[in-house]
Amino acid sequence: MLKGKTVLVTGAAKGIGKAIAVAFAKEGCNIALNYRSGVSDEVIAEIKSHGVECFPIQGDVSDFAKSKEIVDTTVERFGSIDILVNNAGITKDGLLIRMTEENYDSVLDINLKGTFNMTRHTATYMVKERKGTIINISSVVGAMGNIGQVNYAASKAGVIGMTKAVARELASRNITCNAIAPGFIETDMTAVLKEDIVKQLEDQIPMKKLGKPEDIAQTAVFLAKSHYITGQVIHVNGGMIMC
Ligand code: NAP
Repeated sequence: MLKGKTVLVTGAAKGIGKAIAVAFAKEGCNIALNYRSGVSDEVIAEIKSHGVECFPIQGDVSDFAKSKEIVDTTVERFGSIDILVNNAGITKDGLLIRMTEENYDSVLDINLKGTFNMTRHTATYMVKERKGTIINISSVVGAMGNIGQVNYAASKAGVIGMTKAVARELASRNITCNAIAPGFIETDMTAVLKEDIVKQLEDQIPMKKLGKPEDIAQTAVFLAKSHYITGQVIHVNGGMIMC
């Protein structure tokens, strides 16, 4: 069903982005793999081992012009972008009264403006084609807030609002746009958390464990196969919040 489609995944060198790229490769999709600082040969080889193409494209999604270049390069290379996954994201945690302007701005620039930049340029192309799938990675924190993450919560709540607006605007062009809101997932982003914090988190999760990147990847594939779901937020969080 997805075989031969082109998937552009941002921030896909590791973690959830990498798992999403691998999951789509297993479905027979060609992968345009965006990365910022670097991507290992092992990751590229793992994706290619599924018999698909993997084209790495360096670029910072918070840069409007660079984002256009990432999109244009993907279209030049594969002739299409069928599925865009806005995954690139960062945290710069700190309590509100100590948060610097720089830490606020950089999180908003990458998580929210980066999602806008990539969606804006990809949509120009998808609208012409009259088809497409956009999947944004939000967070449970965008729905419930979190101490020390005012910047991150604002960015991820913004992604949810943007998802719904894009879904309404592009629905008539046969383009869907949905968000996945992961709970706490085992990646480098959560590896920095101290053991007692992880224990506290696990206690708040009905399933009593963190999720795996593959849990999010599986949901992304499900959304890409679903043609009548749009403007939705799919929560993948072990029951941590139930909306
Ligand atoms: P991760 O392991 O830290 O990976 C994030 C990736 O994004 C890295 O490859 C990073 O590249 C890339 N990236 C960062 N800034 C970028 C930019 N400006 N342009 C392009 N790529 C950029 O984190 P993760 O846990 O997999 O997170 C992936 C997404 O899921 C993020 O949006 C995150 O907010 C969201 N999420 C994660 C969790 C969780 O518990 N892990 C929960 C909810 C939501 P560099 O390393 O080169 O900077």
